[in-house]
Amino acid sequence: MKLSGVTAGGLFLPANFAANALAAEAGVVFPLHKAIGEASTVCPYCSCGCGLLIATGPDGHIVNSEGDPDAINNRGALDPKSISVRSMSQSPRRLSKPLYRAPGASEFEEKEWAWVIEEVAKRIKQTRDTTFEKTNADGVTVNRTQAVAFLGGAANNDEECYIAVKLARALGLVNIEHQARI
Ligand code: SF4
Repeated sequence: MKLSGVTAGGLFLPANFAANALAAEAGVVFPLHKAIGEASTVCPYCSCGCGLLIATGPDGHIVNSEGDPDAINNRGALDPKSISVRSMSQSPRRLSKPLYRAPGASEFEEKEWAWVIEEVAKRIKQTRDTTFEKTNADGVTVNRTQAVAFLGGAANNDEECYIAVKLARALGLVNIEHQARI
């Protein structure tokens, strides 16, 4: 009987064990991680939220995308837009940092995420605090602001929407919508 491996003391070793042992002897080092990583994610383009399987290369960019057969809404099917996530990921025109245009300025400038998040939080709080209404014109308690709105996007999953709406309600927002409904 011909086996594609090595037997040692009753233990069957796969064929690549012998190859690995020879490579180790020769001082060859194999990387611990696969060069191509695969993960499941959601197509970012519309509210259908189709499941995607993406493979990423060593630089973190997408090198392949396929429909996820385990996703209940698309069962492995995809349209051409979602197949193009690979081009989007590798495009030299893709923004890699937030751009900010200050009031009155004509040019955008690159900013770090930490600065942007703090600035957005500061402006939301400032607007909310200065426009907060405890009661309406009839004296009914409303505890709201109508100066800030929240709009969800297609790439938000259930859990993200749940947390976002909790935050919006806690701030007193009443204008809350999702892209899928408008
Ligand atoms: S694959 Fe097409 S239908 Fe599905 S989420 Fe992406 S853009 Fe929408």
